[in-house]
Amino acid sequence: MFEKVLIANRGEIALRIHRACREMGIQTVAVHSTADADAMHVRLADEAVCIGPASARESYLNIPAILTAATITGADAIHPGIGFMSENAQFAQMVEEHGFTFIGPTPEHIRIMGDKVTAKKTVLDLGLPVVPGSPGPVETLEEAIAVAEHTGYPVLIKAAAGGGGKGMKVAWSADQLREAYQLARGESRAAFGNDQVYMERYLSKPRHIEIQLLGDMHGNAVHFGERDCSVQRRHQKVVEEAPSPALNAEQREFIGNLAARTTSELGYRGVGTMEFLFEDGEFFFIEMNTRLQVEHTITEMITGIDLVREQIRVATGAPLGYGQSDIRFHGHAIECRVNAEHPETFLPSPGKIDGYHAPGGLGVRVDSALYDGYRVPPYYDSLIAKLVVHGTTRNECMMRLRRALEEFVIGGIDTSLPLHRRIIAEPNFINGNYDIHWLEHLMAGK
Ligand code: ADP
Repeated sequence: MFEKVLIANRGEIALRIHRACREMGIQTVAVHSTADADAMHVRLADEAVCIGPASARESYLNIPAILTAATITGADAIHPGIGFMSENAQFAQMVEEHGFTFIGPTPEHIRIMGDKVTAKKTVLDLGLPVVPGSPGPVETLEEAIAVAEHTGYPVLIKAAAGGGGKGMKVAWSADQLREAYQLARGESRAAFGNDQVYMERYLSKPRHIEIQLLGDMHGNAVHFGERDCSVQRRHQKVVEEAPSPALNAEQREFIGNLAARTTSELGYRGVGTMEFLFEDGEFFFIEMNTRLQVEHTITEMITGIDLVREQIRVATGAPLGYGQSDIRFHGHAIECRVNAEHPETFLPSPGKIDGYHAPGGLGVRVDSALYDGYRVPPYYDSLIAKLVVHGTTRNECMMRLRRALEEFVIGGIDTSLPLHRRIIAEPNFINGNYDIHWLEHLMAGK
């Protein structure tokens, strides 16, 4: 087992990883920018190293500074968390080359899944259904038009290096495609430094269903069920729940087992998530995230398994030690992502927290690095808290979530708490009757 782990991240996820380490008797090293000197992850870690100025490029994305911090503190392993370096194959490789363990998959798997065109091809060859579209990257506008004629409109142009819903454009006709194609390429060049795009049929009413996976270094893999992440805005998740109210037992078992089998065939190690769109009873793979996900919490609530602990354990080379039938599911869980932003305009709202009260009680979990008087910096992701609620049934879970949202106070800045209170009072949410476009239609008053 590792003695000391460096956590190359910040905010609630750095804290989440610190907690798992402490419970495993592992010492932690926090790294931070000058803007995060007073952050909770820095306060709680055993050691802390300042790795650069506020700009993420010069601190949390600064590979030499992170490796130096690991060297001077004598860490055994580096956990990349979520975002920042977590899906950077070069970073994973350099971590290993410098003699540390990277708590995550091999650089090769990160590379394959990081290029979404290669990812789709790889899983298609292993028997997973994918969204119909271009067989590879689409290099010219003429090719784009030919693909659209073949798949039929509407089509979606997506960035091969995509993430966070960036570089995605819908086209309903050839005329729209002409414009959307150039826009998508420009946007992906700006966001990812890579303007390669591919195309998919644009599904009109799918749900986003993803499978939580875990593989070890010995070819074993299991799944921990699905999460329904269809409540989205601008292709980004807002509320997630597990299990999905849209799947029956047979569909659930089918997609879980298929994803676990594929993970094992890939020889994949660590935690990972295969994301699918689900429409008219059919699943279509869209991508695999080769890291922990923000919403891993709801899976933990219904399985009772600490996924970060499992992630660390398999990174040491330990075998899973259990099989699929040992994983049991209990009740229902929902997560609300609370952002520092205006609930209607979505404008970022950094600043000083003036008054903080987190809800508690049976089945209520708050993952957050906030405290009263803390100043939310303007430089990073706006996620400031995850409210995660568990109940024996979906109804109990929703009633508990409603009262937890009533209790939650985050003063001094705008947050998305009012948006969550609105979502959970909506009859279509209560009935589980929503798809990936539902929230945007609701907000637009449609
Ligand atoms: P990213 O990596 O940018 O998050 P994804 O491929 O994971 O991109 O897609 C993000 C979201 O975009 C999905 O959850 C879904 O809401 C929407 N989306 C992706 N592909 C399609 C598609 N073919 N049709 C309709 N919506 C899609």
